[in-house]
Amino acid sequence: MIFETHAHVHDAAFDADRENVLQRARDAGIGRIVTVGCDLRDSRRACEVAQQYGLEWSIGIHPHEAKDAPLDVPAAFDRAIAAAPSPPLAVGEAGLDYYYRHSVPEAQQTVMRAQIRYARARKFPVIFHHRDAFEDFVRILTEEWDGEMRGVVHCFTGNAAEATELAAFGLWLGIGGIVTFKNARALQEAVGGAGLGRIVLETDCPYLAPVPQRGRRNEPAYIVHTLETVARLLGAPPADVARATHENAEQLFRRS
Ligand SMILES: [Zn+2]
Ligand SMILES: [Zn+2]
Repeated sequence: MIFETHAHVHDAAFDADRENVLQRARDAGIGRIVTVGCDLRDSRRACEVAQQYGLEWSIGIHPHEAKDAPLDVPAAFDRAIAAAPSPPLAVGEAGLDYYYRHSVPEAQQTVMRAQIRYARARKFPVIFHHRDAFEDFVRILTEEWDGEMRGVVHCFTGNAAEATELAAFGLWLGIGGIVTFKNARALQEAVGGAGLGRIVLETDCPYLAPVPQRGRRNEPAYIVHTLETVARLLGAPPADVARATHENAEQLFRRS
């Protein structure tokens, strides 16, 4: 069984054929899927779709959406979770994205901190999104993270040195379709060096489809291409990688 740790199955890109997409996911051996929220409304939608199809969901405010975040993030999360039929598996996407800068860095940092503090208080794992902001990302972790917490840096695309730095916080690395791209040498090296203990698998669908589906709408079933690439990089049979990454994900998301 494969654990798909990061998807946006509730995205409108799947409105026309969600049922078929999820059937293909089951056929591909995917046992669990986390459909990840990017703001309060999107997280509510994630919860609805999770409820309808037996998936897991998360509640979060993506750094792109930080500018529209509620002033009182914990109160808003508490209200949303109290109204939900099932609790979220994690908090996130939370983090920093200085590549697009849809929100100014200060707002992103404030909302990232608020979500870490919320997760710490309510004992949720955290799904982090980070792009082109490594220094600030690590600085905030140093200030806000505690060793009891669990989290994943989703869509990890860094190098071996960054992987080591994140591992020091006890974070897992979410490996997605980019690892299958020819020009992803540094990332491939980082995955090879990280070993099976620190990796979980994801698609981030509908974005970032792996080779040979690159450029198409991504979907959970395509995670098998990422699995095969990771297995090759680690010199391990795909079944072993599926099992180990599934166990890692169970550990990451276990309810404490
Ligand atoms: Zn993301
Ligand atoms: Zn995502």
